[in-house]
Amino acid sequence: MKKRITLLLLVFTTIVFAEKSSVTILIDPGHGGKDPGHLPHQNELMQEKDIVLEISLKIGEYLTYNLSNVKVMYTRKTDIYPSLDERVAMANNNNVDYMLSIHVNGSPNSSIYGTETHIHNFEAKSSYQWAKLIEDQFTSRAGRRSRGVKTAADVGHSIQILKQTNMPTVLVECGFITNATEGKYLNSAYGQEIIASAIFRATREFIKAKHPNIDFSPAKDLAVKNDQSIYKVQIMASIDELATDIPEFKKLGYPVERVKVQSTSMYKYKYYVGPFKDKKEAKKVEKEVQGKGYKDAFIVYFE
Ligand SMILES: [Zn+2]
Repeated sequence: MKKRITLLLLVFTTIVFAEKSSVTILIDPGHGGKDPGHLPHQNELMQEKDIVLEISLKIGEYLTYNLSNVKVMYTRKTDIYPSLDERVAMANNNNVDYMLSIHVNGSPNSSIYGTETHIHNFEAKSSYQWAKLIEDQFTSRAGRRSRGVKTAADVGHSIQILKQTNMPTVLVECGFITNATEGKYLNSAYGQEIIASAIFRATREFIKAKHPNIDFSPAKDLAVKNDQSIYKVQIMASIDELATDIPEFKKLGYPVERVKVQSTSMYKYKYYVGPFKDKKEAKKVEKEVQGKGYKDAFIVYFE
């Protein structure tokens, strides 16, 4: 009997201390089914539950195709409503290493816009690192306005998914669907793609840093499916900050993105439409906006 216990202990110790060879991420598209989440500023636009599902599936795809040894799970992949208790249980009962909850924000004040990434509190160091990387990517890559990393103390209450899960967990608010410009962006396929790409890049950087001994390089035959370079069309630059919803921009029919540039040049702001995945599409839009009065518009390539 004693021998058997020793043997069992040995097996147990080996399992516990064996080095991890893969990472499991649980992606949680917020709401779903009977729960639409925040409603858009215009009836015909998508509700929160549909936007976050699109973004979540794209993130999962990027992770799957661009990193090996990462297992992606979802709390939902269709329009159903798992309760918050069920979502927490899925995270805690499946050896999940990281949980990523995706939401979009809403406010009765339609002028509010920008992204936020929520963590439970600053004690959650890994969650904070991850959240910070996501907000940095939103600013640098996606050209969004970051409202920063938020804790339960900032919002005045704790969020169940952040409080009750046993692993680093972040909840990303990808923007406000109640703001006309941002709402339109979140409804567009390219907006969703850029948001997903920013979250993917931040997540990749985060897990690579957390697990220096795991080889995440993608399998060759899968190649890099979606960590794509992008094109934007720069329409103008300005000395003073212009609102992106002025009539001159609205007539273009594309949401305009404003980026503050760190340079000594007198022009402090650049304005883009896009991004576009391929040059052909960018070329078409370049012509289009040139025809609408922005004669100096040109294509910019982003790696
Ligand atoms: Zn939500």
